[in-house]
Amino acid sequence: MTEESILNQIKSICDQEDIISEYVFKDSNRYCATIRTKIIDKEVEKSKWCDNWVKRFSSASTSEWIVRYTYPSAKKYLYRKVFKCHHNSFDKVKERKRNNSRVRDKECNATINILFKKINQDTIKNDPYLEKKLNIVITVS
Ligand SMILES: [Zn+2]
Repeated sequence: MTEESILNQIKSICDQEDIISEYVFKDSNRYCATIRTKIIDKEVEKSKWCDNWVKRFSSASTSEWIVRYTYPSAKKYLYRKVFKCHHNSFDKVKERKRNNSRVRDKECNATINILFKKINQDTIKNDPYLEKKLNIVITVS
């Protein structure tokens, strides 16, 4: 995977108004991308929205992700959900079976962090993307 092909994978699942605010590439296993987006369908549940985004990213990047943490609304943000690459699975038996078929990066620590920020006068001051209502921060690293 080249720097450009990974970026194209990410772009392929982004909406038109989304912004890729950061992209740092070391190699295909070590890169960091930050996407700013917002919920268009206001009815959708945040948790489900995260699952759907990760599902689309999974199929675009042929990777698998499992939920590691969910954080309900807090003082600083509305919602947060963290996914880990399945190489990172706690289930070591399954992991070993998988490793038989192909060489994998056992040290893989890839993470998708999805954060829903609050939009108010204080937060807008520190984050210009909030003016565009892009209050969701997705970090793939
Ligand atoms: Zn991995």
